[in-house]
Amino acid sequence: MPPRFYINKAIDTGQVIELPCDTRHYATRVLRLKTHDKIILFNGMGGEFSANIINIKKSNIKILIDQHHDSEFESPLNIELAQAICTNEKMDWIIQKAVELGVTRIQPISTNRSVVRLSAERVEKRLRHWEKTIVSACEQCGRNHLPPVLSVLSLADWLSNKKTEQGDQQFNFMLSPTTEKTLSNYPRPASDAKILLAVGPEGGFTSEEEKNFLHTGFTPVRLGQRILRTETAAMAAVAAMQTLWGDF
Ligand code: SAM
Repeated sequence: MPPRFYINKAIDTGQVIELPCDTRHYATRVLRLKTHDKIILFNGMGGEFSANIINIKKSNIKILIDQHHDSEFESPLNIELAQAICTNEKMDWIIQKAVELGVTRIQPISTNRSVVRLSAERVEKRLRHWEKTIVSACEQCGRNHLPPVLSVLSLADWLSNKKTEQGDQQFNFMLSPTTEKTLSNYPRPASDAKILLAVGPEGGFTSEEEKNFLHTGFTPVRLGQRILRTETAAMAAVAAMQTLWGDF
């Protein structure tokens, strides 16, 4: 597999472009790419482009875009992962793995027991950082569409938005270790259905928050009989959905 790079602009076959400077070090020092090497470019606008390196210098890497390929590797499931904000390393890990496992979008939510509290300025910084994590996960796993990470919302605001959006084709799950039902108790969602998956923070959701989920039409589901860490729970639930109803 030739290495894949994300380009944040419209590109077309026959064009000569420069690789963005923030990827130059990775391309030359880590991947040790040379003139005539093949690479893949994608810009999130559909499909990917095969391309050739035509010139490598310290100051720039020139690429000739060869062919467009209509390939897409998106999951058939439309999953919004609402992840309670947890420590920075765990959030990075969850976002990276959620992209690999095929989620459609990621909604970070602040909850009563979230240990990390982000100021408005820190939220912006984290969002930029998470977007970079998403780009590198897509470069690595082959997705040609970047799943968005949405701006942080309080759980109450996110739930009230969902209340107004509610439609028939929506499956709303809240992970709760103390409930009875599991994901396998539910049928495959229709192909246009949206799945919302809410995962609690390290200390779990409070009982008030759990009540709020129930009032908003969420179904609590359990993953086995053991208490998982928040990052394990999120990934196990997405992998289980892909196995039950998606493309695993
Ligand atoms: N004592 C907390 C509680 O009872 O919720 C444990 C929180 S757990 C470490 C963090 C989050 O992961 C939970 O809020 C839940 O969303 C999810 N989780 C962990 N284990 C789970 C399980 N076996 N089934 C469903 N969700 C689970």
